Amino acid sequence: MTSNPAASPTGDPWLLTPGPLTTSPTVKEAMLHDLGSRDRGFIEINRRMRERLVAIAGGEGTHVCVPLQGSGTFAVEAMLGNFVPRDGKLLILVNGAYGKRMAKICGYYGRATVIQETPEDVPADPIALDTALAADPSITHVAAVHCETTSGILNPIAAIAEVVAKHGRALLIDAMSAFGAIALDAREVPYDALVASSNKCLEGSPGMGFCIARIEALTAAKGNSPSLALDLHDQWVAMEKNGQWRFTPPTHCILAFDQALNEFLDEGGAAGRGGRYRANCKILIDGMRELGFQTLLPDDLQAPIIVTFHMPNDPRFEFEVFYDSLRRKGYVIYPGKLTVADSFRVGCIGRMGAEQMQGALNAIKETLAELGVKTGVPAAA
Ligand SMILES: *Cc1c(COP(=O)(O)O)cnc(C)c1O
Repeated sequence: MTSNPAASPTGDPWLLTPGPLTTSPTVKEAMLHDLGSRDRGFIEINRRMRERLVAIAGGEGTHVCVPLQGSGTFAVEAMLGNFVPRDGKLLILVNGAYGKRMAKICGYYGRATVIQETPEDVPADPIALDTALAADPSITHVAAVHCETTSGILNPIAAIAEVVAKHGRALLIDAMSAFGAIALDAREVPYDALVASSNKCLEGSPGMGFCIARIEALTAAKGNSPSLALDLHDQWVAMEKNGQWRFTPPTHCILAFDQALNEFLDEGGAAGRGGRYRANCKILIDGMRELGFQTLLPDDLQAPIIVTFHMPNDPRFEFEVFYDSLRRKGYVIYPGKLTVADSFRVGCIGRMGAEQMQGALNAIKETLAELGVKTGVPAAA
């Protein structure tokens, strides 16, 4: 099949990936302007963006938003470098590639770390964390990933935050793939800093991340950053002064993000957006199970962001061929990133609904038929 009946309005394939992901036509259109960094309208858009992000986080009056150029990892790196002081010690809860990446960043920065790891299909353990914090008073900070995009698992962030607060330590959250879809209210879940980016559940274009920081913690972070470009305290102070970014802002990305935030609020915020993603996820999982596929995770650990499926056992199933065929039919999926199992992933996020999820399932079904694969059942464990 060479025609692409399912194509999006731009003729691009639907991105069933964890970001970049499919954006709405209006978000793309918002980028058709060139604005100078000192433009008054642009400065107003930045003010509005920062205010809205703080409100979405539930941090009004207690937290501020510091945006930062770059992909999400730049924001993660900035958070770790700014909030963990040189003589601090960070405990990192690891159950996937993004937790491991935080440990790697700390290696570059020479920050002392303790890793507490669970397998990729097991959530972070608040009880083990409690024990570790009680045993080591030199741990000053804990870092956790809200949704570990490696597998799609949801970590118990509220229970983690409670343990961290009980021990008087500070929590740093990578909420990259959850922010805007899975509720996390700063009034209920205490943290010093959280990072996310423009191009995941908020459905903007790639190009910037942001940190939601508790004002007192950010104030205290002055001078900690080992990097100039990633100095969140400096970025914050400069932005408060004149509303401008310190260095060239990603103007088109910010225009798109402003429109993406309009659409996010129109959809009913995290409740509405999360609701659509949960519906997408259910269509996907139900349909894939009908074809014999099995999810890595049980439903109660699965975040409605991205789903990991075991590779089918049938030797006629070749992932590269499967992938290319789906791409020709208008759907891009994602290879697996797991060490525990041979797998691939399908995302539920981005400007897609029931029609696209059903379309993707139809394309998967057709592709299996083309390959002569009768069922998606994986090898027995
Ligand atoms: C996407 C993502 C990141 C950042 O990845 P980039 O490729 O740098 O944008 C970090 N953490 C998690 C959990 C993610 O899903």
